[in-house]
Amino acid sequence: MHFTEPVYRNPYWPTFPLIQITQGCTHNKCKFCTMYKGVPFRMQPLEWIEEDLREICAIQPHAKTIQLLSANPMALSYDRLMPRLELIKRYLPELEHMYTATRVTDISNKSVEQLRDLREVGLNEISLGVESGDDWTLRRINKGYTSQDILEQCHKLEEAGIAYWMTFLNGVAGREHSHDHAVNSAKVFNQCRPMLVGTGGLTLFEGTPLLDEARRGEFTPLTERELMEELKTFVELLTCDCEFNTHHTSSMNLSGPFLPRKQQILESLQYGIGHFDMDEMARRRQSKRTL
Ligand code: SF4
Repeated sequence: MHFTEPVYRNPYWPTFPLIQITQGCTHNKCKFCTMYKGVPFRMQPLEWIEEDLREICAIQPHAKTIQLLSANPMALSYDRLMPRLELIKRYLPELEHMYTATRVTDISNKSVEQLRDLREVGLNEISLGVESGDDWTLRRINKGYTSQDILEQCHKLEEAGIAYWMTFLNGVAGREHSHDHAVNSAKVFNQCRPMLVGTGGLTLFEGTPLLDEARRGEFTPLTERELMEELKTFVELLTCDCEFNTHHTSSMNLSGPFLPRKQQILESLQYGIGHFDMDEMARRRQSKRTL
C-alpha cells in the first residue's frame, strides 16, 4: 500500500480498508496543528491507487466501505477526483460508503451537480474540521475561511445529498474569546444540517504557533474546568437534530443522538465541572501526542 506517514483515519468510521488519494494537507497553516508539517501536499498517481486497490481486493473484494486519505482528498478538482473514485468503484463494485475528511474550502470549487455526481459514485459521508463558527476565532487560528463560507458550502452538501460531520474545537479561541467562540459556533452549526457534531478539546502541541503564542503570553489556554464550561455553553445553544460525540479527557460518554440526550449531556458536563479531578484531566491532556 502507498501510505505516507502520518496515517490518520477517523476512528468512528470502519478502519479497513483505507486508501490514500492525496498526501498531506493543502492548507497546513492552522495554528494548532502539526499533523502534516513537513509533508508536502501531493495527488496520488492513478497507478498507485490501482496497485493499492488490487491489494485491497485480494483481502476484501466485497468491501462495503472505504475511507479515503489523507487530510483533504476533496481538494482535488472534480476532474481529478472523479476518475479516482470511479477507479475505486470499478475494483470494489459492492461499495456503499466512501468516507473522507476534508476542508470547507475544498467544496467551494465544485458545483452542486458535481457534488451530486461524486455522491452517486459513492462519496456520501464527509467530515469537516470546521473548528469554530466565530469569525474572529477562525481568523485567529488561520483556518482560511469564514463563517459565511461554512454556511454556503454546507448548504451545497445538503443540496447534493452528501452527509457531513462538523467539528467544534473546544478551547481554540483562548480565554478572552471563549464565550464568543461557543455562542457563534452554535449559531452557525444551527443553520446547518450535519449528521453529526463532534467536539474535541484543544491540546497545545510542541511545534505549533499557538503554543509559541501561549509561551509569549499572547494566547491564554483554558483550564480543564473552563474547557468544560465552554463546551456546556456550546451544547446549551446547539439545536441541531444530529448525532453527537466528543473526545473529552474525562472519558465521559456523551455520544449518541443529540436532541433526546441534550439535557443528560448538560447534566453530565455540570457534574464534571463540579466534581472531576481537573489535575488528572490536565495530565491526560499533556500526555497526548497528536490531535
Ligand atoms: S487542522 Fe486540518 S486543515 Fe488545518 S492544517 Fe491540520 S490537517 Fe490541515
